[in-house]
Amino acid sequence: MTRELLKEMPKGEFHLHLEGSLPYSFLRELDPVKFAELPPFWNRDYRFATFPDFDRELLAMTGLWFTSPERYHKAAKAVFDDAREQGVLYLETSIASGCLEFGGLDIFEVCAAVKSAVPEGMTVKLFMGIHHSGYNENYGKALEESLTCPNLDGYDIHGNEPDYLGDWAADFYMRAREAGKFTKCHAGEFMGPEFIERAVSELGVTRIEHGVRAVESGETMKFLADGKVVLDVCPVSNIKLKVVSSFKEHPLKKLMAAGIICTVNRDDPLIFGSTLEEEYHLVQEEMGLTDKEIIDLVRNGFRIALVSEEQRRAYLKELDLFLEKNSLN
Ligand SMILES: [Zn+2]
Repeated sequence: MTRELLKEMPKGEFHLHLEGSLPYSFLRELDPVKFAELPPFWNRDYRFATFPDFDRELLAMTGLWFTSPERYHKAAKAVFDDAREQGVLYLETSIASGCLEFGGLDIFEVCAAVKSAVPEGMTVKLFMGIHHSGYNENYGKALEESLTCPNLDGYDIHGNEPDYLGDWAADFYMRAREAGKFTKCHAGEFMGPEFIERAVSELGVTRIEHGVRAVESGETMKFLADGKVVLDVCPVSNIKLKVVSSFKEHPLKKLMAAGIICTVNRDDPLIFGSTLEEEYHLVQEEMGLTDKEIIDLVRNGFRIALVSEEQRRAYLKELDLFLEKNSLN
């Protein structure tokens, strides 16, 4: 499939951190000298030594921009418009509770500001990404209040995986679902299959961000396939954070062959420098997925999107029309 078709194909994106998607041009506008050059980590061969190194770079940039609901709105508008350009009709994105806590920002105001940036013809589901220790005596109350936030669609847990899964998580997630929110969790990036199974069993999630290390255990892959647990995979992120040593060794194809539903995503494009089209291109060229496998990824994405059945049918129809028009089915 040509890069143009990969770009134009109607698709969903499920694993995208809003702060980590800030357009680099916004930073340049703030400080033209400091951000004159493109960051070294956009280089294809760049590898982060550790996850905390990555986190430091990310926070050093996002902390400069995300200081008000207005700035969240402006960034979200640019991120959504750009995703739309890359064929994204349905997007799940998260804002980090740590950024809101650090900036003293109101969750309700920021969520409303982000949601008001959604362009016509696109659906955006907004998640609150909480660090493993993000629900604490300082911020627990604000997170409890967020359960009633109408513009917040769900929660995600992220951060350095060797950290414990906080005691707060299982109970909060249960109550979040009772409040009509969707729940997901980062796992299987730095910690192995056991942590993925723990996240699914203890938190009751059916969506894992990354999860690629499930490939190390046939039992875990079966557990995920049987439980219809979806993995929102980010190939370039996995390479640059050394979760996987090369695209050739990336387990996406094996995970799909084991019957696990997967999606392809960018994670933090401000840091990893990839577009969604590049992610799909690498999946095809370097990881050897066929056109059919690429189409399966995209179709499965619409199948698991958090939309009405009517909307789902409309997405799948739009995809079928595109495939037909381009003789891809
Ligand atoms: Zn992530």
